[in-house]
Parts: sequence; C-alpha cells; structure tokens
Amino acid sequence: MLNATAPCLDSFCRLDRLGLSVLSQHIEPTHAVLVCAPTTDPKPCPGCGGPGVHHDTVVRDLAHVPYGWKPTILRVRVPRYRCRECRRTWRHCIKPAAPSRGKLSRDAVTMAVKSIVIDRLSIARTAANLGVGWNTASDAILAAATDWLFTDPQRLDGVTTVGVDEHVVRHEALLFRMEVRDLHRTAVVAAG
Ligand SMILES: [Zn+2]
Repeated sequence: MLNATAPCLDSFCRLDRLGLSVLSQHIEPTHAVLVCAPTTDPKPCPGCGGPGVHHDTVVRDLAHVPYGWKPTILRVRVPRYRCRECRRTWRHCIKPAAPSRGKLSRDAVTMAVKSIVIDRLSIARTAANLGVGWNTASDAILAAATDWLFTDPQRLDGVTTVGVDEHVVRHEALLFRMEVRDLHRTAVVAAG
C-alpha cells in the first residue's frame, strides 16, 4: 500500500476532524474509553477579550461511534480558563466534537440518525449500540433531525408529489409519527 501511514488512533477514530486527540485508552470487556483533550485553540475571555490562564479541568463524556462492536466513550478533559483582568472563568469550546450540552459526539449523532432513517433500526437498538439510554439517543436524534431536515428553507424546492410512507410511520413512530416524502426525490418534506 503506497499510501499507508503509521497507526494513529486519532485518525482511525476520526477524532482529528472533531478537534480531539487521544491521551490514553481503557479497553473494558463491555466498552472502550478514550481519554481525549481538545486540539483547537482556546478562545479569549468572553467578558473583556483578554487572554486566559489555565484554571482547572472538567471531564465531559461523549458517546462515540462504536469500534470493535463495543460502545466507545470519549472522556474529554475540558480545560477551564480564568481571566486575570476580570477574573471570569470559561470552558474550552469543544463544539467541533459535540453540540452544546450534547451527550453524543457529532459522528455518533450522524450514525444514530442514519441508523433510524436509513437502516430502520429502533431507537432502543441504536441507543444500545452507542451505550446510552433511550432518552439520550432520542433527544440527540430529534435535535439533529430537526436541525438537518426542517431548517433548510429550500427543502421543498422542486417537490411536485408527496405521499405518506406507511412503513416509516409504523416502525419509527416516535421519531416520525407522520412522515411525508417527495415521491420522486425521496426527500423528507415534513414530519410530526
Ligand atoms: Zn476578562
């Protein structure tokens, strides 16, 4: 393989795209934990715009795409900074890795939505694959679906014929109780 590179957990788990780098790994029989740190630059003080000094570190767990058929948890060590001028404290922004207050990494959110919409798995099965609770998976999927499917003002452009997909209504009742699709473009027009 001419393009082979040295092994790299960051690129294999696609964490480099999320602005994270692995510090250590803990492989358990039922799951894996990757302890990570952000690689993005710290932001200045949100109060006065001055530079911050390291204050302490908080831990935030994110369910990630499962590797090796086991749930994978990103245990992100998030630095907190303190402003010497106004003494304000703030956390390092890890929005490239996960939505605000989200419990799933962005890749895990994408996998969850595809599992429901394309693979037609149940939310319970998707939650189990990710190693999270039903409510956690459901909240993340609904938030992503709302953001991706219904905030695009051009999503109805070119739609001429729509119909209700009964299969989706029956099996994904909690996500798409009633889903209307463009019959020719297979785009989701509306759901409720
Ligand atoms: Zn400040």
